Amino acid sequence: MWLSASSESTHKALALEHLAGQRGGATLVELLALLAGEKNGLRLVCSAEHVGPLFEAAKTFGLAILASEEGLADVHMNSQGDRYQEWAPLSDGSTRAVYLARGEADAAHLRDLDVTGGAGLANFLGYPACCDRAYVAERRPDWWLAIAQTTSVRSGLLSVANRLSTLYSSASYLYDYFPCGFDCEESTTLARNNRERLLRHGCGPLVAAWDRHQRGVFVVSSDQVWRQVGGEDEPWALLVGESDATGLPDAGIRLEFISP
Ligand SMILES: [Zn+2]
Repeated sequence: MWLSASSESTHKALALEHLAGQRGGATLVELLALLAGEKNGLRLVCSAEHVGPLFEAAKTFGLAILASEEGLADVHMNSQGDRYQEWAPLSDGSTRAVYLARGEADAAHLRDLDVTGGAGLANFLGYPACCDRAYVAERRPDWWLAIAQTTSVRSGLLSVANRLSTLYSSASYLYDYFPCGFDCEESTTLARNNRERLLRHGCGPLVAAWDRHQRGVFVVSSDQVWRQVGGEDEPWALLVGESDATGLPDAGIRLEFISP
């Protein structure tokens, strides 16, 4: 198991993550930040069966919680499971957005921002302004290439903010947003803070696993992502796309991520 001795807030965060039907740990990072008072609120997408139990647990743990009055429907899902959704009439089985905060006013404010698409949503959720501007400007299903193209330094990148790791594992110290570049300073600072919080909360084994998952040399193109770990002579693994006899794409962008 990833977790050893842990604090009361770690247990709460794990329980909430489980009840919300979330998997893999990225939501754990956000919940711990919320419980620590370092994040204003959290938006989760929950299927119908998870909403009731999540409401009960959140209130027991002293968190405010609200759900969207409309449902969410998938408009598009890319090959990596990133969902692009829009509001839809609520029915019994609807997926809904759920908003968690430490107080009722914050939960209501977050819901208003989300429903109206109001400016300030990304800021309220703790996403860096530079990344919010980049995301608004460019929404692409091959986000890995979009981010690589805006990354000016491509070697010696700090693995702690390597969003590529979400393509093949749950490892991410970032909140649920796309950084403007793999060298984004604000994202790197945020990721470092989140990593240190996990360590303070007894999640050392999880951090060790995530650190391993995020290292390596990557080559990305519009339809392929490759990773090499452990040195130049090691084999390359294809993480996204279909392999052919030619191997690494000629026009791929090479990125090297080193340990924090
Ligand atoms: Zn940024």
